[in-house]
Order: sequence, then C-alpha cells, then structure tokens
Amino acid sequence: KRIIQTSDIAKTYHMGSEVVKALKSISIDIYQGEYVAFMGPSGSGKSTLMNIIGCLDTPTSGTYILNDNDVSDLTENELAEIRNKEIGFVFQTFNLLPRNTALENVALPLIYAGYNKYDREEKALSALTSVGLGDRYRHKPNEMSGGQRQRVAIARALVNDPSIILADEPTGNLDSKTSYEIMDLFDELHQKGNTIIMVTHEDDIAHYAHRIVRLRDGLVETDIINTNVTRPE
Ligand code: ADP
Ligand code: ADP
Repeated sequence: KRIIQTSDIAKTYHMGSEVVKALKSISIDIYQGEYVAFMGPSGSGKSTLMNIIGCLDTPTSGTYILNDNDVSDLTENELAEIRNKEIGFVFQTFNLLPRNTALENVALPLIYAGYNKYDREEKALSALTSVGLGDRYRHKPNEMSGGQRQRVAIARALVNDPSIILADEPTGNLDSKTSYEIMDLFDELHQKGNTIIMVTHEDDIAHYAHRIVRLRDGLVETDIINTNVTRPE
C-alpha cells in the first residue's frame, strides 16, 4: 500500500525581495513498511521536505497524498489533526518534557487523542516496554542516558500507532555505540512493519535503511534501493 505520494512538490520561501526555492520538484512514492533515509548536503531541502511530509507545513505547489488523503492544502488545524493521527516524530534533541517522567512523556500524545488516564498509562507502559525501558517508566529525562532518552522519544512516537515514523537526525546527539543501538531498535521496528523515514548526514547510519534518497538543490539526485543494509548482530 502506498502511504506517501508527493507529485511535483515545490516550496518557495520569500525573504524580503529574495526568493529561495527550497524544493523545486519532488515526486516520491513511499510504501507501507519501507525504511527510507534522506541524505544530502546542508541546504538541499531535507528539512523542508520532512516538514511537508510530517504535515508541519504545506507545499507552495504540487500535491501530497498521505494515506489516501490529499493534505496539500489543509488549514493549520486540519494539519494538526492529521499529524497527531498519522505521524510519530523523533528528533535529534529528543524534545522530552524535563519535569515529567518517561511514562508521562510517552503518554502525552494520547491526551490529544482523547484516551482516559488508565488507557494512556497502559499504552505508554507498553510502548516503553517495546523499546526496552519498561522498568524505567518513573525516571525523568535527566535521570537517563542519551540513548535511553531517545528510546523514550521513540516510544512516544510509537504510542499512537502512527502510519509513519519521521526521524530527523535521530542519532545526531549520540555517541557511535549508542547510535548503533538506536539503529538496531529502528531495525526491529521496521521488521515489525513500521514505515520509517529518517534524515541523516551519516553514511553508516543511512546504510541501515533499505532505500536511500539523496537531495540536491531541492531535487532528488538519486533514489536507490540499499543492497548493503547494515545487519545488526
Ligand atoms: P539542517 O541542515 O541541520 O537541517 P536547518 O534546517 O536548521 O539545518 O537549516 C538549514 C538552512 O536553512 C540553514 O542555512 C538555515 O539558515 C536555513 N533556515 C532554516 N530555517 C530558516 C528560517 N526560518 N529562516 C531563514 N533561514 C532558515
Ligand atoms: P536542509 O535540511 O537540507 O539543510 P532546508 O530544507 O533546511 O535544507 O533548506 C533548504 C533551503 O531553504 C536553504 O536554502 C534554506 O536556507 C532555505 N530555507 C529553509 N527554511 C527556510 C525558511 N523558513 N525561510 C527561508 N528560507 C528557508
């Protein structure tokens, strides 16, 4: 099943009299269960494209179909609703609430989804268990290592059972050993059928993905199936 279809997407920013074409024409299909890495030099349009795919922003022209819905032209509120339902975000900086426990951080998206407290805690605990942190649910972010914090963030991304996990430089703040552990976890999620899209500028991280899309100057430069997938032991 096709989850993502962008057709001739462009994004233009206006800064005073200057016009920046961040995306010129992007046409990409991504299917359920794919694990894709976006690469490309700084300024090539990765963040802009991720923002559009993640329904944080809309394209200037072209169409974006997400899970059979045309989301190219939605209002801010409509986008927010789709985002909560369809997308799990993982960030380089984890973006956890510092005063809240792991359980509370993971349960947060479920408040917007309208679950009662009991169901929220049950689902959050189950998500934490699935990332190997079932015994750390009372801990606050500053009582955990970087890798554990990123696991909490991944649990939060998973808790709503989203159509896609979008990860922007998920290993950018982690040492290499911890980075590979997080990539092993992504691999597990991929095996379970999750659709994962990540941005990375690190080749060895990108090689965990099964497809590597390189952007340059707002265009797709190459889009290849990765036959050299890194296999965790
Ligand atoms: P990364 O390359 O790590 O994704 P960013 O997306 O933060 O970095 O920024 C990429 C480029 O886009 C930078 O050169 C930055 O100056 C520019 N940029 C990002 N956001 C804005 C903005 N709101 N206004 C102007 N330029 C921006
Ligand atoms: P990347 O993530 O690959 O570094 P970006 O998507 O951040 O690339 O940026 C693509 C281009 O768009 C860059 O030239 C950047 O400066 C520009 N850009 C990004 N965001 C903004 C913004 N909010 N306002 C103006 N220019 C932006």
